[in-house]
Amino acid sequence: MFRIRPATLSKVFARSYATSPSPHALVFLEHCDGELESASLSALTAASRLGGKVTGLIAGAPDQVPSVLDKAKRIKGLDTVLHSVSPQYSTPLPEIVAPLLEKVLSGGSSFTHVVSAHSSSAKSILPRVAAKLDVPAVSDITSVDHDASSNSTTFSRPIYAGNAISTVRAPSSIPIKFFTVRSTAFPAAVSGEAEAETEVLEPVEVSDPPSSHISTSLSKSDRPDLGVATRVVSGGRALKNAETFQATLYPLADALGAAVGASRAAVDAGYADNSLQVVAPELYMALGISGAIQHLAGMKDSKLIVAVNKDPDAPIFQVADVGLVADLFEAVPEMVKKLK
Ligand SMILES: Cc1cc2nc3c(=O)[nH]c(=O)nc-3n(C[C@H](O)[C@H](O)[C@H](O)COP(=O)(O)OP(=O)(O)OC[C@H]3O[C@@H](n4cnc5c(N)ncnc54)[C@H](O)[C@@H]3O)c2cc1C
Repeated sequence: MFRIRPATLSKVFARSYATSPSPHALVFLEHCDGELESASLSALTAASRLGGKVTGLIAGAPDQVPSVLDKAKRIKGLDTVLHSVSPQYSTPLPEIVAPLLEKVLSGGSSFTHVVSAHSSSAKSILPRVAAKLDVPAVSDITSVDHDASSNSTTFSRPIYAGNAISTVRAPSSIPIKFFTVRSTAFPAAVSGEAEAETEVLEPVEVSDPPSSHISTSLSKSDRPDLGVATRVVSGGRALKNAETFQATLYPLADALGAAVGASRAAVDAGYADNSLQVVAPELYMALGISGAIQHLAGMKDSKLIVAVNKDPDAPIFQVADVGLVADLFEAVPEMVKKLK
């Protein structure tokens, strides 16, 4: 019988440990108005699927960090939260935040992955740091699988506007694997009872930064935010113009306590704001939306899809759980009346 001598076994273990460190993800946590961004909570879920330790990184101004840190340390799946405070971090400009991230990753850190939401800020910060470290970054992933034995990580990501899914593998030769996460593909991490450890990080002051923040203009609404809403009423080109879009959709959204969304065609035609595109909530109502592949890529993971379209052959009916072939200008007011 073939037997492995104990000495040989310990050498095998020593070697596999040396080549396959256990995953340790650093998640860049974004925040706004004292709350963690829900997209960052989805990134955290993706990071925990790597199967190892998860550390969060919060950078912010002195008046921002305490309340965010208080919430972050209660998030399930976070082992440690690093936090760095400086007035320079009040808005996460890539040229200012990237050096902090670089510092965290330098000097033999144990991090194997760097993760963030696929947000406008993180899309600028992560590739910048990855390039400095001479490693690639994978963006907008919808699934992640880490193979501990080969120390490789495999990702899925939509390409060609969602018409195809590519599978990308980051092999063991890439010491730190960077990726951004499509938030609709992962549920947001929730709060728990345990508290993560916290650690202060000295800020990296950037003198004479090449860019500066001038202003932020946010669209204000009393309806739930599209990114976190569980119900969405979404309108397409059929809504004709901004006035009919609002007059038809808003009463239904209010009756359901839902957020309002829009197809690209409705946004491009100026009926709706750009911020109203692409979501995957629990209830998605597609009103006068054809169901183009690019639209489906954003919303097809919704739990319950309801479609109203006057064309019985509209592709949206192929993904809809409930379909109504009707003129939306008749069907929607009737729904509002019944809901009230
Ligand atoms: C690179 C790229 C990326 C894109 N990304 C996105 C994206 O992220 N999101 C997105 O939405 N689109 C995206 N698009 C655009 C997409 O291809 C479609 O053009 C768009 O989704 C169509 O919007 P729509 O369904 O509102 O309009 P249309 O396709 O014109 O459909 C209108 C629908 O309304 C129905 N209708 C008309 N009148 C009524 C009525 N009175 N009652 C009921 N039904 C009625 C019609 O039967 C039709 O099915 C992208 C395109 C490209 C090229």
